[in-house]
Order: sequence, then C-alpha cells, then structure tokens
Amino acid sequence: MQTRVRRATVGKRRVLRVHNRADEASVARITRCTHFHRRIIMLSETILEIRKKGDLTQEDFAEKLFVTRQAVSRWENGETTPGIDTLKRISELFNVDANAFFGTAACCQSCSMQLKKFDDYAVNIDGGVNTDYCHYCYVDGAFAMDGTVEDMIEVNLQYLKEFNAENGTNFTEEQARKILKMHLPTLKRWKKT
Ligand SMILES: [Zn+2]
Repeated sequence: MQTRVRRATVGKRRVLRVHNRADEASVARITRCTHFHRRIIMLSETILEIRKKGDLTQEDFAEKLFVTRQAVSRWENGETTPGIDTLKRISELFNVDANAFFGTAACCQSCSMQLKKFDDYAVNIDGGVNTDYCHYCYVDGAFAMDGTVEDMIEVNLQYLKEFNAENGTNFTEEQARKILKMHLPTLKRWKKT
C-alpha cells in the first residue's frame, strides 16, 4: 500500500490530506532510526568514496553525471546535495543502493516513515535531495502539514491497523500512542532546542 498525501490550500493555510497510509506510519521500527545529521555527512563521504574508488578526478566524475566539477566539489564538502536523478545515476553507474548514501535505518524526521528508496526522500528547492524528510512531509521547500507533533501522532495512528497488518504486530492504539509520544518529539522537526 502506498501513502498518498495531497496538499491543498484552504484560505492561506496549507492542509494535509492523507489517503491509504500504511507502512509509512512506522511504529515498530522507529527506534532504529538513524540520527539525522549523520546522514548528510554520510552522503558527502559516500560520494567522495565512490569517486576515489573509481579512480576518478572531480572532472571525470562530473562528466559522467552531466554536472559541473564545482557541483561535485560542493557535494563532497556537504554544501549541497545531488538531485534524486543524479543519485540514481550514481547508483546505477557504480552499483550502489540508496542505503549506501543514507544508511539502512533512515527515517523521516517529521513523521518517522522509513526512508528506503531514493524516491522516498523529499526534494529541496534547489533540486537536491533532502536527507531529513520524506516527500510527503516536505513539499516545495515547506512542510505539507502545519501542525504540532500531537497532530502528527494522530495522523500516524489513523494507519495503525495497516501498520500492524504489514508488520505482523498487534499494537493497541494506546500502546502505539505511547511509543509515538516518546519517539516523535525526538525527531529533528519537533525537537525543542
Ligand atoms: Zn515524513
């Protein structure tokens, strides 16, 4: 089943419409979520590593990916991130998967959905992949849903049944709410600094 979130505008407020949300409402696996700022470092390190392994200069690498040498340099310095299409191209050319770039247990730092495939990730305004959020939560450079962490917990709980079915778990709403209340506030979007 696929999560489908449609953003609509009511007055000046963006609201979220969610349809058929299933495994994305990660409840059971949430505790294995990779800490977010690790991932941007991982992404730049992985790109550098792949290039070095291939014995390629930044120019060579850039040429293969149809980008400028400066772009490669900025990725490796962690200043910007490649776009999804570029990441897919790197993954095809050098035979690495999304986990190599982001780690195996990345999750959205807003809703805690597991991020497994390139297309799970949001896209930044500059076209680069957003290493923090899923593409349902973060759209066109902004959060798709205005609201509190409590609102997000309730959104996730709407899909508890599907989640349980998908994962062979049997959480009651009360149990799931308790876990989400502990976990979601630790995510980047909700964390009080
Ligand atoms: Zn999300």
